[in-house]
Amino acid sequence: MAAKRDYYEVLGVARDASEDDLKKAYRRLARQYHPDVSTVEGAEERFKEVNEAYQVLTDPDKRATYDRFGHAGLEGMGPGGMGAEGFPFDSIFDVFFGTQRAGGRTGPERGDDLRYQLTLTFEEAVFGCEKEITVQRLETCPRCRGTRAEPGTSPARCPVCKGAGQVRRVRESIFGQFVTNAPCDRCGGEGVIIEAACRECRGRGQVQAMNRLAVSVPAGVDDGTTIRLASQGEAGARGGLPGNLYVVIKVRPHKFFKRDGLDIILNLDINIAQAALGDEVEVPLADGKTARVTVPAGAQFGDQIVLRDKGVPDLRSGRRGDQIVRLAIVVPKGLSEEQKRLLKELGHSLGTDVRPQEEKGFIDALKDAFKA
Ligand SMILES: [Zn+2]
Ligand SMILES: [Zn+2]
Repeated sequence: MAAKRDYYEVLGVARDASEDDLKKAYRRLARQYHPDVSTVEGAEERFKEVNEAYQVLTDPDKRATYDRFGHAGLEGMGPGGMGAEGFPFDSIFDVFFGTQRAGGRTGPERGDDLRYQLTLTFEEAVFGCEKEITVQRLETCPRCRGTRAEPGTSPARCPVCKGAGQVRRVRESIFGQFVTNAPCDRCGGEGVIIEAACRECRGRGQVQAMNRLAVSVPAGVDDGTTIRLASQGEAGARGGLPGNLYVVIKVRPHKFFKRDGLDIILNLDINIAQAALGDEVEVPLADGKTARVTVPAGAQFGDQIVLRDKGVPDLRSGRRGDQIVRLAIVVPKGLSEEQKRLLKELGHSLGTDVRPQEEKGFIDALKDAFKA
């Protein structure tokens, strides 16, 4: 083996070359010697040399060591034997255009994430629950274990790209001739061809399957809350990790409870006598129990009675909100003769002589309507 050449000499730069100088030199040499573009003899060896020199000189520690002790100083620091793997750009394409890889052998691919909408009752959302769900998803084929080939057979190397998954394409441009890599059409960039496709998955490596799983819904979830179940999504391809399953909560509206953040709103209808005189009323709670609340005498429409800590637990802290009882005063309709008499009496005592509508003339009724 020939003695190693000086790194500065390899890159053709001065000993005090800046990082920028190194990069420029590297790009120039890569264009010349990268095995994907070069037709020069021994280009691959040359390129490895260039690559190694660049790796060392752009690493301040290694450069300092090299400057003091030469190649011997770097032994044990592990820069030797660095081949094209150490290539600091994604592909030769990047050296020229600074773009992403044009394609190539397809590596492991993570499975897709899945969404599942889980509908809960109001109570289930407030207090949490255990639910069993069944989700259809792609799973790794159990017959071929994802290899896509019928058991007992193995995939063959693609004859077109010789297993590389990429084919070279020559392109003329104003800068000269470029050779770029494109995914191989024959094997779809996989580098292998399945000759005997697995019977179970017909060569796809994955099958649709029903996945039954238990979901633990914490207390306090609301419409749109998402629960992440790691790795319960679709299977990955070529050894890739599975995706996640996102369970999105939908809460069915309740007959009389409404939610406002951590508070539960209950609209309570009371009549004018209860509003005027005050009352004790039994109201339902979200947990199925009831509570007695005191309507104060002289209550007005929209007044609120707060039941502390009877609301929704906070998902994180578990601290509960309140139940808020909102009063709605219902004006009675369809009164009996007796009720009308009593109300007229009440009206008189409150200082308003009330003439019921039907006793008034049409014009009076209109006037009243405009006053109101
Ligand atoms: Zn299969
Ligand atoms: Zn191919």
